[in-house]
Amino acid sequence: SWGTTCAEGPGRHQPTCWQPGLSPPLPSSPGTPRSIAGLYDLERTLGKGHFAVVKLARHVFTGQRVAVKVIDKSKLAGEAAGQLLQEVRCMKLVQHPNVVRLYEVIDTHAKLYLILELGDGGDMFDHIMRHEGGLAEPRAKHYFAQIVHAISYCHKLHVVHRDLKPENVVFFQEQGVVKLTDFGFSNRFQPGKMLTTSCGSLAYSAPEILLGDEYDAPAVDIWSLGVILYMLVCGHPPFQEANDSETLTMIMDCRYTIPPHVSAQCADLISRMLQRDPKQRASLEQIEGHTWLQGVDPSPASRSLLPLTSHKRVSEEEHEIILQAMMCGNIADRDTIQE
Ligand code: ATP
Repeated sequence: SWGTTCAEGPGRHQPTCWQPGLSPPLPSSPGTPRSIAGLYDLERTLGKGHFAVVKLARHVFTGQRVAVKVIDKSKLAGEAAGQLLQEVRCMKLVQHPNVVRLYEVIDTHAKLYLILELGDGGDMFDHIMRHEGGLAEPRAKHYFAQIVHAISYCHKLHVVHRDLKPENVVFFQEQGVVKLTDFGFSNRFQPGKMLTTSCGSLAYSAPEILLGDEYDAPAVDIWSLGVILYMLVCGHPPFQEANDSETLTMIMDCRYTIPPHVSAQCADLISRMLQRDPKQRASLEQIEGHTWLQGVDPSPASRSLLPLTSHKRVSEEEHEIILQAMMCGNIADRDTIQE
């Protein structure tokens, strides 16, 4: 079962994964402490997913505000625990202005805490739900181009997200951008090689995933991009029937209708992503080059005042100061830090 029925209209979509060893959906974790390892004070809840609760938190010493994804390890069986490591690996790997940064990971006996860059404007699902009939196309274009930009970057690093949906796109109002989060189902892929694990959320899943076939990893993200663009301009999901089995049938038949207020160019782009046959789906280059997306700056975040710093840009002198501070703080010895 997909765990959600949709009889009462669009709701937030929970992912399902059929890997053996995954325990049933987590309830919200009741035992979340008020502080983590004396380093972060936990405040209000920002969002809840199937597998985690995300809280606003403040660094005890610096006052920096972050988002903390709290994962109750006791609820995760073997394979799912492995998937958790995959989330951490992929999030560490992808460093892009349109992907939420993973600052650090705090691992305790019972819980795993992912300390994340804080989105200050809620998520895209709630935003879409506040706009009946969808967003105006220039706005939708502005956000969609950034999501495409982030996914294009991930695919270049051979990382597939596999759970793309508006709930996993977070607003950063101060920076004026949106960023992709929740790499809980992400994985590395080898170009041309098929993946087999079926995961994602029903309403956003590509037909080949639902069939349980081997699938070409990047193409499943393209399908979900099609669903996201549809939702942005229509205000509801393209495949959303009274129950899961009807939704499944509509996805398998690739049957959806685009309301008349959507422009022909935008409708064309949606139809190029929502193709039943993965080989017929548009590539990311074709999406980025599509007429509907022309004239939009794909990455306003790259002009952000908050540059990402690489250790290669740090001078020798600065490097030494940082090393000294880390050694004084008993982080590790010089060799370990440098390694
Ligand atoms: P899912 O059920 O989709 O697997 P999950 O348990 O993996 O979800 P996330 O999707 O990572 O949890 O987060 C749940 C919600 O928390 C998001 O939909 C969003 O509203 C909020 N959220 C997540 N990350 C951040 C962030 N960095 N800043 C602000 N809010 C966030």
